[in-house]
Amino acid sequence: MVEEWVEQMQHQVNTLKKLGEYINVSDDERKAIETLKTKWGTSPYFASLMDKDDPNCPIRKQVIPSMNEQVNKYGMENYLVWKENRATEEVRPDSIARQYHDRIAFTVVQVCGIYCRHCFRKELVVDQDLQLSFDVEEGLAWIAEHKEIRDVLITGGDPLLLPDEKLEYLISKLREMPHIQMIRIGSRLPIVLPHRITEGLKKAIGGFHKVPVWINTQCNHPKEITEKTAKAVYELMSCGINVGNQAVLLKGINDDVETFRELHQKLLRTRIRPYYVFYCEPAPGIDHFRTPVEKGAELIRDAIRGHTTGLAQPMYVLATKIGKIPLMPDYYIVDKNETEYTLRNYKGETTKIPNIPE
Ligand SMILES: *Cc1c(COP(=O)(O)O)cnc(C)c1O
Ligand code: SF4
Repeated sequence: MVEEWVEQMQHQVNTLKKLGEYINVSDDERKAIETLKTKWGTSPYFASLMDKDDPNCPIRKQVIPSMNEQVNKYGMENYLVWKENRATEEVRPDSIARQYHDRIAFTVVQVCGIYCRHCFRKELVVDQDLQLSFDVEEGLAWIAEHKEIRDVLITGGDPLLLPDEKLEYLISKLREMPHIQMIRIGSRLPIVLPHRITEGLKKAIGGFHKVPVWINTQCNHPKEITEKTAKAVYELMSCGINVGNQAVLLKGINDDVETFRELHQKLLRTRIRPYYVFYCEPAPGIDHFRTPVEKGAELIRDAIRGHTTGLAQPMYVLATKIGKIPLMPDYYIVDKNETEYTLRNYKGETTKIPNIPE
């Protein structure tokens, strides 16, 4: 029997005709689909969450190509080569991206459940201008030799699109390496194809083991979360897998106070712990999604911190080739002298605590 998630993948919504079964395609959308040479598509499930009549629907904007993708005033050419330090002295397989001493990103597959229009790996995953080879064996051999690596972040593409047996193999190989202390999987599937969270998957990657598996998904708008998402997340947790979220700050999609707050509250209600919010990276062809750099910190200040549950608070980061740089809203220490600190809260109220000498 073909599993439901496989069937969903076989029936990807990736032609004008199929898209027309879900929405009234706008002229702009039609023109972009007909003109641009780019990979696009979504699972039928995620397509069914689109607003039929509103081209500004946050799901439509993440899934359907736009002529704006041809504009590239600020994006950096060869962005991924720069970002993932692919032009450095250290010899590494294509599948290994390294920015830190103790952890790496390990790319194992190039396909996705949906092809996000804002993807920072667009050159590789969506437009496919950049050709790299992702050899899992070669990557595993490199990790086995590098004893300083203690945390492996499996990424793509979408790693959960690998069949259960391949995932089981990958996870068990990593778990056998004495220096590997934790494994993370970056996957949009709990959001765009929750049907993937099957008993077979739970057996392949879950269970009690001293090397835990964490999943970080990507959800950018409250509309992306359904009952099905909640069930999938619960299933993952029931076999010991923690689920976090890495959102991307997207102009016109989640960059207003109401949406930003509701997104993070709803994630938490769904048992997904907000981890990061990323500034939309300067990759080519995604200028139209980008906000000013300070915007994310302002949203945390105006929508989250103090305004709602502390657990709902992600860290806002700029992802760069030298690692992720956190950007905080600055309102804590207003003043400091020899005897006391003056602190400010989210409402602008101040209070004092003593300055205790070392
Ligand atoms: C994001 C990333 C990591 C993980 O960073 P954390 O801050 O630990 O989540 C590791 N390696 C690369 C190349 C990355 O891009
Ligand atoms: S799922 Fe991830 S890798 Fe795939 S297109 Fe979306 S952002 Fe890019």
